Amino acid sequence: MRLTPELLLKARLRLLRMHYESKVGHIGGNLSCLDILMTVYHEALGSLDQFVLSKGHSAGALYVTLWSLGLLSDADLTSFHKDGTRLSGHPPPRSIPEIPFGTGSLGHGLGLAAGLALGKKLKGEGGRLFCLTSDGEWNEGSNWEALTFIRHHRLNITLIVDLNGLQGFGNTCDIADLRPLAAKFRAFRLETLEVVGHDVPSLAEALGHASQGPLAVVATTKKGHGVSFMEDLFEWHYLPLSSESYRQAVRQVTSLCATHSAVLS
Ligand SMILES: [Mg+2]
Repeated sequence: MRLTPELLLKARLRLLRMHYESKVGHIGGNLSCLDILMTVYHEALGSLDQFVLSKGHSAGALYVTLWSLGLLSDADLTSFHKDGTRLSGHPPPRSIPEIPFGTGSLGHGLGLAAGLALGKKLKGEGGRLFCLTSDGEWNEGSNWEALTFIRHHRLNITLIVDLNGLQGFGNTCDIADLRPLAAKFRAFRLETLEVVGHDVPSLAEALGHASQGPLAVVATTKKGHGVSFMEDLFEWHYLPLSSESYRQAVRQVTSLCATHSAVLS
């Protein structure tokens, strides 16, 4: 199913409702990467490809994306974050076929994706691994080890970074400045593209870039994208939606979609 502004709006509204009803946080980082996940699944992922969500606290955006493809039901989403559900706050291991690993202990998704990619290579299987990391989790040295491994084995991996400039305790540049991240990936001899992570046509083009080896896509995003009182505020890493903030957010993302539809038509 191709990605349209209407489908994106439907997903964004469902994500807001799911987080509002479950009274959990992480909505800012989920809105930051929803466009990326929807583009990966609707425009880039082939039948032999696999995806690993390393920033596991954005599980909500992944569940909604799978729902948009008919792979999870509305009842599944309603069970989000409840005791005993398979839709836990971070991606669960071994209960959803599209989710190969439980993730969310940051800095490990890329290494897991590298292992899957090496397995495919050794077995002569086709297909590509896509892995989405946050920017803050590049504080973890395990990611840099994974890059060395990926480049050495020339693995068929597309690494995507959700570069929103924020992490759990503040601005990434104040905590452990990682800039210039794209230049560092190039120093590891990865082909590296830089895009705006909410520009779906540019994202789709970058993710579809023909590459037989590792590719990095550094996607600049906004935490809380589409909701003015959340954008670029690290507090929304944690805050749950109140009934008033939920109503305001719904109004704003609906208006944002109308603007995008007008631009694209
Ligand atoms: Mg971040």
